[in-house]
Amino acid sequence: MARCPYCGRSAGFFKRAHAECTAQHQKSAQTVIAALDGGKLPSTSISGTNPIRLQKNEQVIWNFVLTRHFKFKRHSSHTGSSRGVSFRVAKGVYYRAGTHRGHSVSDVHLDLVDTGDLAVCSQNLYFIGRGEAVRIPYNKIIATTLLSDGIEVFKEGRAAPFVFRLNDPHFAANLLARLPLENLTAAANDE
Ligand SMILES: [Zn+2]
Repeated sequence: MARCPYCGRSAGFFKRAHAECTAQHQKSAQTVIAALDGGKLPSTSISGTNPIRLQKNEQVIWNFVLTRHFKFKRHSSHTGSSRGVSFRVAKGVYYRAGTHRGHSVSDVHLDLVDTGDLAVCSQNLYFIGRGEAVRIPYNKIIATTLLSDGIEVFKEGRAAPFVFRLNDPHFAANLLARLPLENLTAAANDE
């Protein structure tokens, strides 16, 4: 019996997710992308107590619950290629994922590090697990790769990427492609 990747409760027999959770997620995701594309900074709150010590004026944009952080045990086989989605990974840098061969997240050489929340915030990407907390400033991200069931984040000064398996990889890649939001006016927060 699978657990719904959006709410964490049992999804029922032969189901991967609750239909209502999926619908709500897709609607919210579209709203967030539309807001960012319109130059506005959407914000959300983390359910329960937010453990993240946000920086000045920093907002949580999206929190991917039940995210699993993996790391490569060793670089061996490159299996599967990423989907052909172009997205921005840093200011002025465009990276076409489809032109690069990607590591499959289902690669047997990935080790699970921790499970927790991947919080996409206005200035940093945070992963808060049970045993680790990671903060990745957007200006330290060299590239982001879309995987079939997750994303790979390459951080400056770190050889191996962070591999995050999460409930909506396309949305996560699209979010990161838009952040940090440049030329943000104060008016954008007036909502
Ligand atoms: Zn659900």
